[in-house]
Formats: sequence, C-alpha cells, structure tokens
Amino acid sequence: MPIEYITTRILKNSLGQEKGRIRVLKLKEEPEAQVDYTCPECLHTESKKLIWKKPFSLRCSKCNYLIRVTNLRTEIKKKRKQR
Ligand SMILES: [Zn+2]
Repeated sequence: MPIEYITTRILKNSLGQEKGRIRVLKLKEEPEAQVDYTCPECLHTESKKLIWKKPFSLRCSKCNYLIRVTNLRTEIKKKRKQR
C-alpha cells in the first residue's frame, strides 16, 4: 500500500531532555495512522492506531504527557528564524 506520510521524531520531556521517540506511519487508504512511541516523560512504550490529523498529537496512555508531532514546514520556519 502507498505511504502517505511517515516520520520518526525524537521527543523531549518536560525538562527538555531527549528521552523518547515516536514513529508515525500513515497509509493512503487507511483513515488511521500506525503510531509507535516511547514516552519521553515516563518511558512507556506503546503501539497503536490513531485517527490521522495535522498537527498530530496524542497523550501518553500511562502518564497523560502530551506528545506533539509538529509538521515539517513549521519546523523549517522555526529553524530559519533562529539563524
Ligand atoms: Zn508517559
């Protein structure tokens, strides 16, 4: 099946430490995305399917920490502003 969107991101916890990661895979013919994450806050690991939306965010099912996957364009804009 064709892939619509795939990304892997390093996640920061509330202290700004890079402790977690997330992978999002969205196939064109499915309304839901396959999400695999390690929560940066409590290190809980989970795989689940979630309805795809942009910007994509979810809460850790163990500690309720908000995990955000910002879209690529937004990140590029931020990097340009910092220079
Ligand atoms: Zn957590």
